Amino acid sequence: LYVDQPLGVGQPVPLNADQANYLFAVMRLGRGDAVLLFNGRDGEWRGVVAEAGKRGGVLVCDAQTRPLQMPPDLWLLFAPIKKARTDFIVEKAAELGASRILPVQTRFTNAERIRQDRLQAHAVEAAEQCGGTFVPEVCDLQGLDKVLDTWPAERRLLWCDEHMVGGSSALTGLLATARGGPWAILIGPEGGFAESEQARLRGLPQVVPISLGPRILRADTAAVAALVLWQAALGD
Ligand code: SAM
Repeated sequence: LYVDQPLGVGQPVPLNADQANYLFAVMRLGRGDAVLLFNGRDGEWRGVVAEAGKRGGVLVCDAQTRPLQMPPDLWLLFAPIKKARTDFIVEKAAELGASRILPVQTRFTNAERIRQDRLQAHAVEAAEQCGGTFVPEVCDLQGLDKVLDTWPAERRLLWCDEHMVGGSSALTGLLATARGGPWAILIGPEGGFAESEQARLRGLPQVVPISLGPRILRADTAAVAALVLWQAALGD
């Protein structure tokens, strides 16, 4: 169960009405029963039910069951698309071990704004369902240009570029010979990147254009494919 509170020995964890309903009405837990808790920062803890009510309750942490397991340092940058597909990208990125998710506005991005809180909640649910102890941060929408202005010198940016189709930089080949270090993946919007954006990306030394194969994938498929390939080559 995800709780947005500190976890530690003897730490009381008050429950809200939804959490109480889930634990006591749906899961039929009662006083003395144990629940596994995580908050994305302190690892996984066993919480024992101390009070169980209809509208709330309290768990008390008694022992850590797993330390925090950080994913590799891999960011996913993507241009938000339709709501359901954007939700899908965030969910799959959290499941596939992205450490940070950055929605970026590009010239051909249709979304003017995103519901960051909703997307963050999707990341929490995904972490919960795959038994993770870490929740990736979902950043608010930022302009791609602004993000590139302050791009860290040491972080390589894998630019998924459909124009590379048939080119030599297949992701697996590239990663097989790659040195370590922080990484990021960039996926464009349905309309692709504008000429000016492509020129900007080509001019940055940290940017590595890569192909995801001979077919043009939808942006959500491309995000999943790139994350899976990266994890297969460099993940743990
Ligand atoms: N504008 C393009 C077009 O209509 O020809 C298609 C853009 S594609 C639907 C959305 C994004 O997915 C692209 O910007 C790119 O980042 C990624 N993508 C899709 N297929 C890819 C491929 N075969 N190789 C690399 N990236 C790909």
